[in-house]
Amino acid sequence: MTDSTHHSLRFFDAHNHLHAENLIGHPSDIVADAERIGIVRMVVNGATEQDWPEVLELARRHKCVMPSFGLHPRYIAEHSTGWQKTLMAHLDAIPSAVGEIGLDRWIEKFDSPDQEAVFTAQLRIAAERNLPVTIHCLRAWGRLHELLAKHSLPVRGFLLHSYGGSREMVPRFAELGAYFSISGQFAADWKTRQRETFLHVPIDRLLIETDAPFMLPPESHITHPLRDPKTTRPVNHPANLGSIYEFVAGLLELSLEDLAVIVEKNFLRFFDGL
Ligand SMILES: [Zn+2]
Repeated sequence: MTDSTHHSLRFFDAHNHLHAENLIGHPSDIVADAERIGIVRMVVNGATEQDWPEVLELARRHKCVMPSFGLHPRYIAEHSTGWQKTLMAHLDAIPSAVGEIGLDRWIEKFDSPDQEAVFTAQLRIAAERNLPVTIHCLRAWGRLHELLAKHSLPVRGFLLHSYGGSREMVPRFAELGAYFSISGQFAADWKTRQRETFLHVPIDRLLIETDAPFMLPPESHITHPLRDPKTTRPVNHPANLGSIYEFVAGLLELSLEDLAVIVEKNFLRFFDGL
């Protein structure tokens, strides 16, 4: 894959963490690399209160950055008593989305009631303002569906990022308004089940994401190798998005051009107004 292949294509990253120290603090210009391959917008998800001012700053600096503010279930223990006020202040400061929020039963000693309270409080804010909301879920798909079914949701729907739930649950989430984003990690040989699942996602609900710097795609799908400047460990570069699109195009038996048009439509519909 060369840069010239991508000249007329427009890519949209439904989920990343550009504010991560190993991306934005990297000596190479990550945003310029991303724009060069045709990335038009990327949703940058703050996951902690500390992230939010950084995400806001990035959005003010870069046109391609679409800011999203949320408290991730993995960092709930660290939240301040005034977190909801701070969240509102960020949402008021700039057109933005809510996320990353969610349920995670994979973390050790998770506090289920607190997780759910923080999750539903943020869901309520998104519903009241009809903002796009990005949901992370690990090992809690049944419970997530229960909660989504009994709470009010944004009219525009919600995003299940890097959807790893079952194929059977796809229509059940879709009827509640779900969008489903696929990440590069699902290109790994052993991720057969997730690839199969995405064949059952309604095409008008499909989005694509890097989750950079996380979810490193398999070696064969890395066009932009990058190392954490401190640990020297490989990290996922946001500009790998182009090759993730190629993977998805192959999976769905679509041309890259057709896929890009479909994903752009979905992205602009879901994130409308941002
Ligand atoms: Zn994420």
